[in-house]
Formats: sequence, C-alpha cells, structure tokens
Amino acid sequence: MMYCPLCLKPAHMRKVNDLEDGSKETFHQCQNLECSTTFVSRETFGHIIKNSKITVGEDAKGRNKGVE
Ligand SMILES: [Zn+2]
Repeated sequence: MMYCPLCLKPAHMRKVNDLEDGSKETFHQCQNLECSTTFVSRETFGHIIKNSKITVGEDAKGRNKGVE
C-alpha cells in the first residue's frame, strides 16, 4: 500500500512497468476524490541477506550488478 505524497491518503496501484535494469516502476492514483494525484514509485533490488547455493545465471549477473 502506497500513500499519496500530497494528502497522505491511500492510493490505488494502476500500472506496473518492468524496466530494463530489472527494477519496476509503479503508477498510483490517490483515492481521495478531492486530490486524485497520480504518482510513480520505483522498486529496485536492494541487497542479499543470505546467499543461495545455486549457480547464478548470466541473466541475473547482468541485472544484479555486484552478485558473483
Ligand atoms: Zn492525495
């Protein structure tokens, strides 16, 4: 759940775009009818908490820079 950056009321998720760098761009619309602001949030890879034993594929190496 995202909140409107202007009126601080809950916002609906409208659309998600997968970007080439592996991050996601999400469009939201404020549910407050007097506001109705549309805004974008971004989700990106942060860091690994516990490493896996699987072999990292070439796709993941390109997307998640710094993962060996
Ligand atoms: Zn709002």
